[in-house]
Parts: sequence; C-alpha cells; structure tokens
Amino acid sequence: MEAALLDQQDPLRRFREEFFQEEGRIYLDGNSLGLMSGRAEDKLLQLSMSWKQLGIDGWTEGGHPWFTLSEDLGRRVAPLVGALPHEVMVTGSITVNIHQLLSTLFQPEQGREVILCDELNFPSDIYATQSHLRLRGLDPEKTLRKVQSRDGLTLRKEDIMAELNEDVAVLLLPSVLYRSGQLLPIREITAAAHEKGILVGFDLAHSIGALPHSLHEDGVDFAVWCHYKYMNAGPGSAGGLYVHERHHTNQPGLGGWFGSDKTKQFDMDHSFTKAEDAGAYQIGTPHIFSTAPLIGSIEIFEEAGIGQIREKSLALTAFLRKLAADRVPELRDVTPAHDAERGGHVAFAHEEAARICKALKADGVVPDFRAPNIIRLAPVALYTSYEDVEEAISRLARIMEEERYKNFTNERNVVA
Ligand SMILES: *Cc1c(COP(=O)(O)O)cnc(C)c1O
Repeated sequence: MEAALLDQQDPLRRFREEFFQEEGRIYLDGNSLGLMSGRAEDKLLQLSMSWKQLGIDGWTEGGHPWFTLSEDLGRRVAPLVGALPHEVMVTGSITVNIHQLLSTLFQPEQGREVILCDELNFPSDIYATQSHLRLRGLDPEKTLRKVQSRDGLTLRKEDIMAELNEDVAVLLLPSVLYRSGQLLPIREITAAAHEKGILVGFDLAHSIGALPHSLHEDGVDFAVWCHYKYMNAGPGSAGGLYVHERHHTNQPGLGGWFGSDKTKQFDMDHSFTKAEDAGAYQIGTPHIFSTAPLIGSIEIFEEAGIGQIREKSLALTAFLRKLAADRVPELRDVTPAHDAERGGHVAFAHEEAARICKALKADGVVPDFRAPNIIRLAPVALYTSYEDVEEAISRLARIMEEERYKNFTNERNVVA
C-alpha cells in the first residue's frame, strides 16, 4: 500500500503534530532520545513555575506536588510494563537502579555466586554488575558469566537456557538488544530461570514505550528502564524500576530517606521505616525538573494505548525493511525476521555504517550509529509517518547510489 494512504488510515496520526520536529528533517533516532512534545514542555514549565510561585510549599501544593510525584508517576507507568501499581517507581537512572536492585536482591551464597548477563549487553549494565561482584569480594572474571552470541548480533534461546545453572544467583538481560533490536522471550526465560532458583531482572531501555510488557504475570523479579528513549521525557529524565511485590519485604541495599514510609519520613528518626511498596528503593530527593516532562509524556501514552503503538511500530518497521530490501540491498538487515522477536528499531550492518550515518544526517535524516558497523533506524509510532519512512529510504538509496558517504570521514563523534 502507498505511504500516503497508510498515513491517512493511521489511528495515531493526530499525535504527530504534538511533537517538535524541524521541517524537512526526518528523525529516526527516538530509540536514543525521543523528541519533545508540547505536553512534556508544558509540564516542565508548569513545575518550574510551581517553584517560582510556591517555594517550599511546592512539595505539598500545586497541580503536581513534588513529594508524591515519583509515586504518582510510578502508578501511571506501571501499565506500560505490565506491573501492579505499587511495583513501579519513577526514580534514578538505569545504571543507578541496577545498583540499587542488585544491592537489594543479589545475595550470593557459597555455590551460588554468579551473575549471568550476555556478551552483547550494554556496557553500563556490565560495569554496574562487575562492581557488585567486587563489592561482595567476588572476582568478576569468575563470577560474571556471559551468554555467548553465535552471530555477534542475537542470542539463541537455547544458549541462554544452557547457562541457567545452579551456581547462578541472578540473570540480568535486556528485553530488546540495543544493536540488533532482538526481543527476548521474557516469560519463557523467566520461567526457566526460576526453575533453577535464579532471580531474573530485565533492562527495558529499548522496549518501554515501544511495546507492551507483562512483568508481573511473567513473574519477573525486577526491571529497570529510562524514560528518555521511546518515552520522550527528555535527556537524563528520571528512570524507572520495578520490583515484584514478593520482594517488597527486602530492605533496600542502598538506603536513603526517600525510601521511607511517607508518613514517617519527616519524623527524622535514625531508625529507617521503609515504604511498603517499590518506593522503598528510592534513595534521595527526586529530580523534579527531570521528572516533570514525563507527566506530559505519559498522558500521550495513556491516550494512544501501547497496543496501538506496538501495532503501528511493527507496521512502520516492516514497511521500512521492505523498502530497504528493495532499494538498498547492500545494507544487511540484521533485525530478527519475526515480529515476536523484534523491538521498535531496525538494524542494518554495513562496513561503511559510520560514514553512511554521517551522510544521512547531512541529508536531513537522523539515524544512529552503533560501533562497529550498525546503522539503527527507529521510526517512532507517535511521530513518524509512513511518508517519512519512504522519504528516508529514498535519501538513503541516493546516498548509496552516488557513494556520497565517501565525502565523510570515518572518525568517531563522541555521541552518535
Ligand atoms: C540507554 C541504555 C542505558 C543507559 O543507562 P543510564 O544509566 O540511563 O545512562 C543502559 N543500558 C541500556 C541497555 C541502554 O539502552
């Protein structure tokens, strides 16, 4: 079907105009940093105004009292990860939340000291994990195990299963792999790990806001994510954590007064009474201005519905893949073939990936490069149209035909 017709029939079409986009530029990098919406901007301005007008009283007054903002938002984000309202908190960042949850839930015992990750995992998750092993006096060389990838891009379910041994305490994997876009079978992996007595955590960085989850039903023990990728809450916005209610009796490994029972926090007592819900795993004063945009952004998700977002995301990415296969066959599509096994972006491998990304950017298409040779393109259901996708692939095809990427150096930028 033609792009224009697909756009006309798109039930999410009305959300596109809510996002700030430069005329003529096609933004396909929402999996790294989502665009700003008017509603996110409004809430940022509103909370800045509440500081201006209310001073200290902003903690308890105004449209969005700061004292309970993280709890209020946690309840609203919970449906997006398929959690119960009290299992989710908006706080921290991915890395900080991994630190908090490993310090809370990783309890190595003689004979069960291993944390299992995968060799394609995001570096920060690995660094955090290594530091926890060291903090417990363990040697990460021996106790951080990684599921190996056969093709350097994806993980095989059977290879994950084969590593679920009795000496593993915690399994920490991404829901969607950040390079190839592979979506792992969360429920199956969790069930298999639980059979071996292994706690299971997922990093939802590349799936939250792109597809539905069912963490509680799947029995996942803990999860972390950020809100600056598909959630469009701005650079460095406060992240999220999920802890299954069965673990809510655990004292936080990293204690702090914002993990207190809210009715006791201002007693200023030196004995800590933890919150009964996932709020216990907050640490210090919430970053209000880094949280504010999410109030606006989450509203859009509530209206659009994550089911509809996933449906359009799959259709957009399928459309992109088909056009790319026809028009730029020299780019190797390394995204898993089946819908049930892929997230919200498409990944292409090419030895000139770095230069192709620069040429695309110069031509008004914003991609994202991941070393050594991956071009990621993320058409985002809320603000990318089918016509955008068609135009982006046309520009890409021209760049390849005219070998225009040769005008760019291979030098790496700090970001992208
Ligand atoms: C984006 C991303 C991060 C970034 O972590 P921060 O603590 O938010 O900087 C970590 N892990 C994965 C898998 C990511 O995709």
